[in-house]
Amino acid sequence: MLLRHTTDEVLERSALTVNPAKTCQPIGAMYAALGLHGCLPHSHGSQGCCSYHRSTLTRHYKEPVMAATSSFTEGTSVFGGQANLLQAIETIFAVYNPEVIAVHTTCLSETIGDDLVQIIAKAVGESKVPEGKHVIHCNTPSYQGSHVTGFSSMTKAFVTYFADPGAEKSKQINVVPGWVEPSDMRELKCLAHKMGIEVVMYPDTSDVLDAPQTGKHEFYPKGGTTVEQIRSSGGSAATLGLGLSASTAAVDALTSKCGIAGTMLELPIGLQATDRFVDTLRTMAGVKVPDAITDERGRLLDMISDMHQYVHGKRVALFGDPDQVVSLAEFLTLLDMKPVYVVSGTPTPQFEERIAAAGVNVQESKIRAGAQADMYLMHQWIKQESVDLLIGNTYGKYIARDENIPFVRHGFPILDRVGHSYFPTVGYEGAMRLLEKILGVFMDRQDRDAPEESFELTM
Ligand code: SF4
Repeated sequence: MLLRHTTDEVLERSALTVNPAKTCQPIGAMYAALGLHGCLPHSHGSQGCCSYHRSTLTRHYKEPVMAATSSFTEGTSVFGGQANLLQAIETIFAVYNPEVIAVHTTCLSETIGDDLVQIIAKAVGESKVPEGKHVIHCNTPSYQGSHVTGFSSMTKAFVTYFADPGAEKSKQINVVPGWVEPSDMRELKCLAHKMGIEVVMYPDTSDVLDAPQTGKHEFYPKGGTTVEQIRSSGGSAATLGLGLSASTAAVDALTSKCGIAGTMLELPIGLQATDRFVDTLRTMAGVKVPDAITDERGRLLDMISDMHQYVHGKRVALFGDPDQVVSLAEFLTLLDMKPVYVVSGTPTPQFEERIAAAGVNVQESKIRAGAQADMYLMHQWIKQESVDLLIGNTYGKYIARDENIPFVRHGFPILDRVGHSYFPTVGYEGAMRLLEKILGVFMDRQDRDAPEESFELTM
């Protein structure tokens, strides 16, 4: 009973968050930057922020995440961080030789008001940036938004700094995948390639944060979208953005800078959302969907129809990133499950409308996004009326344990399990994995609780 003080009495709060259902903006900027080939993320702030962000990513991906810091001290906090950043840029290029340094701010440097555009221009003017190398930036004050906002801002910075409106026109499609796992990015590319479509990913963390073990440490793994690819995206035929919260900014920036038509969809998690993804790509590229993809869809449909009896009518509490929970809610609703509580700590305009569009009966559910939409509130709702299943990141395990609820880990961060960075949850095969995980916790629970006379070998 680690959360024994949680009561079922909900008091409206306006200035207090307890156990937030989100994390810090710079973590998202750091994750997005790692999806650019040869990029070293740089945290413009104190060492503690950078250590926290790196360690959270390292624990989630089980990979050593590299990042540099401006290493603010008391003096820097008073006089500003320009001297530290100029020195850092010079040292990083001399010692670590990245293609790109992607700088993001922290609460402290934002509060001081450091002007990164001016500092980077000064670094270029003083020849601290070698020929052919780049320094880019985005602002990530963590007293606003969440890790999703930081991811979105760094993705948009790729467009601002690199997308070339004069790039040669091509048939390739830009895909802004939103905050999904490296395995998901690999699956999105794989689906596109099966349709014969070339894509530029904004960003691509596959083969960076799920790089194979070769016995040799690569400071810059082989994965990641190259600067050249991002430049060429200015001449692409179209842009497809996935996840309204994480990807809209980059899609809009590509439209306004390069005049490329952009289409936004929810993340392709589950049957219907994947259908829309595949159909939109097919239409954009003017291609046919191959039998291999139709067969994947058919296997998912078969699994749903076989297993529907075990999930029908189950009440679910969901928490996490808005893009993730919206698509999850749609998939659960298709399975005839009931997402009764949906919470996201990321401030999200029209969150309830998006959940309603996913098919959830919002009159019968409790839906909340923003600073006070925390895990404490969701726990209080669960205490008022419990659920059959909890889905969310690792922090949900405390609620699941105290309330004796089957728990499926999904989202960020997952600190106590593996698999998320290797097995996708997007696409038809991803949906099969999600369904398998949900069925697994229900059947484990049935095995645990069944009286001896009802303990079945075959289920
Ligand atoms: S919330 Fe602000 S101060 Fe805290 S770790 Fe994040 S950036 Fe640093």
